[in-house]
This record gives sequence, C-alpha cells and structure tokens, in this order.
Amino acid sequence: MSNRLMRLRASRHLRDLCAETEFTRAQLIQPLFIVEGLEHDEPITGLRGTARQNIPSALRQIERDLENGVTQFLLFPVPGEKKLNQFNHHFSQQAISAIRRQFGDDLCLWVDTCLCSSTTHGHCAVLDDARINLDATLNELAQAALAFAEAGADGISPSDMMDGRVARIRTRLDEGGFELTPVMSYSTKFASQFYGPFRQAADSAPQFGDRRHYQIDVRHRTDALACSERCAEEGADLLMVKPGLTSLDLIRPIHERTGRAVGAYQVSGEYAGLALLAEQGLTNFDAALRETWHVFKRAGAQYIITYGARYARQLGI
Ligand SMILES: [Zn+2]
Repeated sequence: MSNRLMRLRASRHLRDLCAETEFTRAQLIQPLFIVEGLEHDEPITGLRGTARQNIPSALRQIERDLENGVTQFLLFPVPGEKKLNQFNHHFSQQAISAIRRQFGDDLCLWVDTCLCSSTTHGHCAVLDDARINLDATLNELAQAALAFAEAGADGISPSDMMDGRVARIRTRLDEGGFELTPVMSYSTKFASQFYGPFRQAADSAPQFGDRRHYQIDVRHRTDALACSERCAEEGADLLMVKPGLTSLDLIRPIHERTGRAVGAYQVSGEYAGLALLAEQGLTNFDAALRETWHVFKRAGAQYIITYGARYARQLGI
C-alpha cells in the first residue's frame, strides 16, 4: 500500500516530528477565586485543585503556582457584602494590590470585570425592575476597570456581554492614564449549562431568571461571530470563546475576521467533567486534560484559561 497514513504514527519520534500543536505554560491562564471574609479554604465541587480562598491563602497559592511555572492568572474577586446594583470595589482592590505588592512583575494579573459577584440579584448588569439599564451598567463596568487598574491589575477582562462595554472601559482606562492596560474580552460567551461549579465558586448565580437575554444562544453562529467582531472594533486586545470545547468551530473564523488573538476558556463544567470521570476510574485525568489543551491549540486558540494550569509542569508542559 503506497498511501499508508499509519506509517507516520508508528513511533513516538515520528509522532513528535509531525505534531502541529505545541504550546508553553506561558499561554495557560490560571483562575483564582479570592473571597472576602473566609476563614478557611473552601474546595469547589468538581474543580480539582481549585478552592475559594482568602487573601493570605491565595498569596501562598500563587507562590506555589509561580514555583510550578504558572505566570498568568485570572482573578475573580468575590466581595462579602453584596449591593443592589453596584460594584463593591473595595475588596477587589485590596486583593489586587496585595498580589501586586508581593509578586511585582513576576506574574501577569488579569481581573474579571463583571457585576454578578457584587450584586444582590446576581445578574451581570444594573437592573431597573428586572430590565437592564445599559448606560448605568457600562458606567459601573468602566469605573470598576479603572479601580482595578489603579490597584495594580495588568489587564481587564469584561465578562458581562453587554454591548458597548469594551469601548466604555477603553475610554475610561485611557482617560485614567492606563493607555497600555490591555482588555481581554469574553467576546463570544454563550448561555451554557457548563458553568455550574463556577457559580458556586464566584457566588454569582442569578437570583431570578437566567442570562439568555445577554449571553449568546448556542444555536446562533452569526451572533457568536458578530459579538467578537464588535469587541475587536471597540478596542479589545484579546478575544475569547467560552465555553471552549463547545466553541471550537468559532476560534479560527473569529481570528480570521478580526486579526486578533483568540483564546479558549475551558470552563468549570468542562474541567469538572474530566475530574469526575477520573474519580469514577473512567479516564486518566492528566492525559485527558492534556488532550483537551492540544485540541484548543489545534482549533487555533492562542491561549487557554484552565483550572489545570497549575498542573502543566506535572503534565510535562
Ligand atoms: Zn457576570
């Protein structure tokens, strides 16, 4: 047989020779949940290796992560006191500046910017009687972005999906003298059933209704592409698909349309799925995790946000 595709799979060396996906730890981003008022770490169901932590515990965690070669972090600050329609900036700023003081430029700190962990209703917007007040929402987001940059964030990550947020955030950052602070936008974010463990971690479950009036319907490819194009036009530096595994088909098209780097968020439900399968003896966690990361790369992802970033060295990456 002259055309035998199996020939190049016959040894490890040949497989490595032909590998088309490769990445480094520098392209993996580790989420952190820092929660106000916690006495002890609280493990999160399904999120192997990830806990809700107070500031001192998170600082110790980051130190271990840096030793393991993690340099990129995405911080989810969870304030203890919720407000009706407002950010509670104080605790977030405290967490950001504690990290900055201790670690200087040893790490790159992105900060998730969304109202749902701060508000009593748990929605990602300012609501007037259950209706989104867009202008007030954009104002809150821009204020928060500036507060986070002032506290020492390296980058701002808006995850709310409101039209116009990137433009408003960009303007406010520039006015505040943070022209070089990048925006990594959750640009194509679907309403999804894969966010369960995260909502527990970030204490951000909506208290009524759902998020379908601002997150993308999974059936809508045109909308999914348009949302990332919109964010690029508004000045987002990095784009993202979320959930990662259910959005693989969109990564390359978004990159081709916008010319921006696109990352994949391996969300809590995807990651927990692997951990729970492994707990039942139905998969090898390390190998399955590595497999999914290679698939994100093959689909064109520039970077991957994953709860397993801190295991990368252990996985030989
Ligand atoms: Zn939100």
